[in-house]
Amino acid sequence: MSISENLNRIKSTIPKHVTLVAVSKTKPINDLMEVYNSGHRVFGENKVQEMVDKYDLMPKDVEWHMIGHVQSNKVKYMAPFVSLIHGVDNFKLLKEINKQAKKNNRTINCLLQIKIAEEDSKFGMSADDASKIFASDSLKEFKNIKITGVMGMATFTDNKNQIKEEFNRLKFIFDNLKELETENCKLETISMGMSGDYQLAIACGSNMIRVGSSIFGSRNYN
Ligand SMILES: *Cc1c(COP(=O)(O)O)cnc(C)c1O
Repeated sequence: MSISENLNRIKSTIPKHVTLVAVSKTKPINDLMEVYNSGHRVFGENKVQEMVDKYDLMPKDVEWHMIGHVQSNKVKYMAPFVSLIHGVDNFKLLKEINKQAKKNNRTINCLLQIKIAEEDSKFGMSADDASKIFASDSLKEFKNIKITGVMGMATFTDNKNQIKEEFNRLKFIFDNLKELETENCKLETISMGMSGDYQLAIACGSNMIRVGSSIFGSRNYN
């Protein structure tokens, strides 16, 4: 199946309230344009430099999501255009995003990445860390960011029950954090689910899925 057929098949099977992020990392502009020409506008990248390069080449009504781990010193490159940063996992990074957003006269939406997987390799903060950020006084001073939700990645495993448990845990954490809402923390988004598990994620309450290989085909890292 072609890229646009893949896209349309996925779009036809997900509920309206779920946002599809087309994860285009490592893929050439032609592939992104095929998705764009099918009417899709939301793209996700996991490396700042690659996203900046693609931003320059793509039409300007694309909504760019940074879904990877972000180093503070790279925030300035995407601050002029990024629409959602999924992988915010520490306070220092929030501070830097606020600073760069302010320089660009923008408000940047952020998701807190919560660690739900067992593996050590997955980034993210604990639910406790997230509540502490919500409760902190300095967050109120960050006028140029909005925390709009949470993001998580399940363990890489075939064990559906484990994945389901981890997704349910993220939904539970989201519901609890929602109670703590403040001026610039208004939780709406649960970003969870990828090619292999997005249906399960939606069943567990996800309303934003990040799908790469099921749209673009498998990635070649050479
Ligand atoms: C690559 C990536 C995805 C998409 O993975 P697929 O399995 O190809 O759908 C989703 N989320 C993150 C954070 C990624 O890095």
